Amino acid sequence: MITKQKGTYDIYGDLAKKRMYVNDVLNALCEKFNYGYIETPVFEASELFHRGVGETTDMVQKETYDFVDRGERNITLRPEGTAGVVRWFIENKLYGNLTDAVKVYYNMKMYRYERPQSGRNREFTQWGFEVFGPDTVESDAEVVSLAYNAYRLLGLDDVKIQLNSLGDTESRMKYREALINYFEPYINDLCEDCQERFKKNPLRILDCKVDAGSDIIKNAPKTIDYLNEESKKRFERLQELLDLMDIPYEVNTNLVRGLDYYNHMVFEVTLRDSYALGGGGRYNGLIETLDGPSTPGVGFAMGYDRTILAMEEEGVNIPINNKIDLYLLAVSESERETAQYLAQDLRLNGFIVETDLMNKGLKGQFKSVDRFNSKFLIVLNDEDLQKNEVVLKDNATKEETRVNINNIVEFLDTHM
Ligand code: AMP
Repeated sequence: MITKQKGTYDIYGDLAKKRMYVNDVLNALCEKFNYGYIETPVFEASELFHRGVGETTDMVQKETYDFVDRGERNITLRPEGTAGVVRWFIENKLYGNLTDAVKVYYNMKMYRYERPQSGRNREFTQWGFEVFGPDTVESDAEVVSLAYNAYRLLGLDDVKIQLNSLGDTESRMKYREALINYFEPYINDLCEDCQERFKKNPLRILDCKVDAGSDIIKNAPKTIDYLNEESKKRFERLQELLDLMDIPYEVNTNLVRGLDYYNHMVFEVTLRDSYALGGGGRYNGLIETLDGPSTPGVGFAMGYDRTILAMEEEGVNIPINNKIDLYLLAVSESERETAQYLAQDLRLNGFIVETDLMNKGLKGQFKSVDRFNSKFLIVLNDEDLQKNEVVLKDNATKEETRVNINNIVEFLDTHM
């Protein structure tokens, strides 16, 4: 038997319905914020993700699905959304003539070779969005607001936003230097990966899952102390705007995020201090890194799997419809045709209608009425049909109403 691959799963039944619900809520919200939908290809040139995400990141070093295709191209399965969207932005030369921000959102499968665990898979879906053009604190605030409202609308009122600023390039360089000086004496006490990070990108040590919580990390220099005046002002202004919008947050000076390209605002959304449900930030250097003209960018991504797990853990009532409106039963062979065309007509009028597709007898069809949890049923029989009539029965109250076949829609409209 061929089974599914480790870290992948099938989406069906109630889970499929829950995801469709989350999808609908998020899409509607993005439209309100005037973001346009985008999908980029699942596979791209490896260079895009390797360069875009950063060669020194765990993601590129350990997690990307890389392969050579039959045309000998180096290909990578999309591990995150931003790099592909930036490639789209550059390839379509959207940077020219930017009078308004370019705002897009996506909902895409991602692929990372990680150790699977609850809420962590090798194939997973991220909902996310990006804003190109503005380098304003207002655009930072809008991004945090869209992310926060997404969780709120999904019923996760207790999420926390952890907020930090890495500052501009000058501040970041100063901070990097301070970290190198600080970590140097402790280098042998850090995990193997962090010893490597120390050489390539010391900021990433703060992001380490192994050393997290150790005193060395806790006492490390804080970004906030290395922000230059301008960066500090900008960070304070962001906090003022968030206060004004009633968006709760906590400043977490250890937050640096795993990717190379962030500057100024970085943020993560967590539930009860642990669970990272999503993260984002500003990446003004990324477009240049990918050979585009220097253009500011800011964005966010949430994982579906963890968000739905969190909704279940928090007891959020996710509306799932497991009911149908009407089941059309055929007394004998001769009514099956009517069942078919009547079902088609009623479905096109917006009702959820089911008929027997398995050639079951009447008794079997009645069992299906209950299994499908149908609100109404009609037992189609030639005698009624000859008079152009049907009897609509409410399956709960057993109340019966005789109506003209042309008035079924009207009846259902008033009784659903
Ligand atoms: P990242 O792109 O790593 O910043 O992740 C953003 C969000 O995507 C995380 O907060 C998670 O909710 C989700 N995520 C990241 N990796 C995985 C994974 N392997 N499986 C499921 N969700 C993930």
